[in-house]
Amino acid sequence: MTYVVSAPERVTVAVDGTDALFPVRRVYCVGRNYAAHAREMGKDPDREPPFFFTKPADALVPSGTGVPYPPMTRDLHHEIELVVAVGQGGADIEESKALDHVFGYAVGIDLTRRDLQGEAKEMGRPWDAGKAFDASAPCTAIRPASAIGHPERGRIWLAVNGEVRQDGDIADLIWSIPEVIRHLSGLFRLQPGDLIFTGTPAGVAALAPGDAVSGGVDGVGEIEIRIV
Ligand code: MN
Repeated sequence: MTYVVSAPERVTVAVDGTDALFPVRRVYCVGRNYAAHAREMGKDPDREPPFFFTKPADALVPSGTGVPYPPMTRDLHHEIELVVAVGQGGADIEESKALDHVFGYAVGIDLTRRDLQGEAKEMGRPWDAGKAFDASAPCTAIRPASAIGHPERGRIWLAVNGEVRQDGDIADLIWSIPEVIRHLSGLFRLQPGDLIFTGTPAGVAALAPGDAVSGGVDGVGEIEIRIV
């Protein structure tokens, strides 16, 4: 095959325990999925249906790398999240079957230009400038569910320069992983290669150049990036 311009590289994520790679198709993200975080964002955490936004696949960057402080913001926020890797596609997936569609799990950071997101909310505009910028989705290697099972509880945390800022438990997700998959697959046919960032606990705050960011989900993994 020849192309009229240079073809973009296939985006992949490493898989723990193998040299084979997870090829990424889409990156979906759940908005407000922990009650305390919904409250800190000024929203009622009642179970209104979950909502979703996306990041481009090529916004993914591996753990252990330097992430450039992005342009056009003065308020870059961290959001530590459990990430679901879809292994089997489907539409209108039932909750009871949802976990059969999961290949594995990773730990990600939904980096957010909070000032641009806030402006977009205020003006009824799309969130892309706040959420979908280059390198906005640091993510660890995926750990297969065949190795770690399907985590339902466990600490989710993030520290900046050694100081813990976010500290929650994935048991406190407002919408569980099967519920997220049911809702999301009702809106979009899921395909192998899709990633789902499942939302962040309370404690989101600003990052500065030079910050060392670490975080993790018990039983899934740990992530480390530096803002450069
Ligand atoms: Mn998020």
